[in-house]
Amino acid sequence: MGIAISDSLCHGCKKLPEARCVVACPGNLIRMDPSGSLAVMREQADCWDCYACVKMCPVGAIDIVLPYELAGREARLVPKLRRESIRWTLSVAGESDQTFELATRVPEELLETEP
Ligand code: SF4
Ligand code: SF4
Repeated sequence: MGIAISDSLCHGCKKLPEARCVVACPGNLIRMDPSGSLAVMREQADCWDCYACVKMCPVGAIDIVLPYELAGREARLVPKLRRESIRWTLSVAGESDQTFELATRVPEELLETEP
């Protein structure tokens, strides 16, 4: 399915030694652009849809892009990471339709790190 990184929302995690999404990706598929303030995909085709990057972004700049065959019209899953849970919002054609809330296992020290 793949991901999409918003160039208007991503701030590059500049206060951190390394961007959260870069650290989270087990395939080393995300890098920073030359300015250092925007995360970009190296190779979308190599993404195995684990969504570690999506969940770890502190500003919700990474969406899951759902294919037409699975979700119909243009659809995305957008996460909001909370201290003890993660809330997913299914957005179809720009409208928020449903939310799902699940317990999270994100280590406390990561949640406390300033982005
Ligand atoms: S974690 Fe989010 S804000 Fe930080 S660099 Fe990645 S996409 Fe940008
Ligand atoms: S979904 Fe997983 S494999 Fe794909 S870019 Fe994000 S962290 Fe990497």
